[in-house]
Amino acid sequence: MKKTLSILGSTGSIGTQALDVIRHFKDRFDLIALTAGKNIALFKKQLIEFEPKFAYIQSKEHIDDIQQFIHKENLNTTLCPNNDGLSIIAKIPQDLVVIALSGTIGIKATYDAIQAGNDIGLACKEVLVSAGSHIMEASKQKGVKIHPVDSEHAALQQCLTNNSNSSINKMIITASGGPFWKLEKEKFNSITLEDALQHPNWSMGKKITVDSSTFVNKGLEVIEAHHLFNIDFDDIDVVVHRQSIIHGLVEFIDGNILAHLSSTDMRFPIQYVLTYPEKLHSTWPRLSLTQIKKLEFFEPDYDRFPLLKVAYDVGRKGGSYPVVFNAANEAAVTLFLAEKITYLDIQRIIMKSLEEFNHDLSLSIS
Ligand code: MN
Repeated sequence: MKKTLSILGSTGSIGTQALDVIRHFKDRFDLIALTAGKNIALFKKQLIEFEPKFAYIQSKEHIDDIQQFIHKENLNTTLCPNNDGLSIIAKIPQDLVVIALSGTIGIKATYDAIQAGNDIGLACKEVLVSAGSHIMEASKQKGVKIHPVDSEHAALQQCLTNNSNSSINKMIITASGGPFWKLEKEKFNSITLEDALQHPNWSMGKKITVDSSTFVNKGLEVIEAHHLFNIDFDDIDVVVHRQSIIHGLVEFIDGNILAHLSSTDMRFPIQYVLTYPEKLHSTWPRLSLTQIKKLEFFEPDYDRFPLLKVAYDVGRKGGSYPVVFNAANEAAVTLFLAEKITYLDIQRIIMKSLEEFNHDLSLSIS
């Protein structure tokens, strides 16, 4: 039986890599739908290659263009024309909906897919960071599995095997440290956009690359892990591991530790999720331990990267704090990518937003 699935956000970094996995195992998947934001050229190529039953384009000005393209190429694809296209596609009964959207737009699509009883491949951090309790509760009620498409969380999931939650002592997620791990604090005020987009190990979208450099990405991942695995913040550790070979570890109450290793290629976690629970023979570059030779680990530096600590704090506070943290970061990084603010302004904007939110909250309570 072929697995039926949709990729929401097919032209992004995760979307294109998910399609690469599907391309390698074509006879195993039945692609129901693809959706894109505004990368029209790539989306057209994908429609021709994969000819999904349904398609949706977010940017209104391109709807006619895509519609005419489908007609001209004689594709057996129906374009969902209205604003509700993501929702319509998420609700189609299928085996898996991959949420590779960026930003808070992913929350509703995830919720809709859960309500339809579809399992989720989740590659959108905002979903669990902003609405983790609701999403996990809804998935439990509907008996829906949420598979994380993030190297660290997919690693933790694989380390858990069949062990119960009560047997976990702690979870450890690794961080590459990003491009500024060795940079002196005094030099942070001269970091440019170009500097921030140089990730040492992973090739990813721009937003997440900047988030990696500030450790916000790791902070969001800690909050995600808390929801996904129902684990206390005190029992989630972050360890800086420059080589990005080990992605996650689980320490059990008896002291045994399981670690997950793979090359720094997102197709490993993506394939794990897409083919779950099956294992298929892949051809992605394999790991050679003797070539790597050594693995190093360091404590995070909260002095130069205070936002990781802030993420733990907002996670512990819960409620709307993680939402504010995430939204402020999203807005600040957008401004930084547009070269409207400096690198350290990202930090300032997040801190100020949280302070103001705290202040508003205390006003409304008193
Ligand atoms: Mn990650």
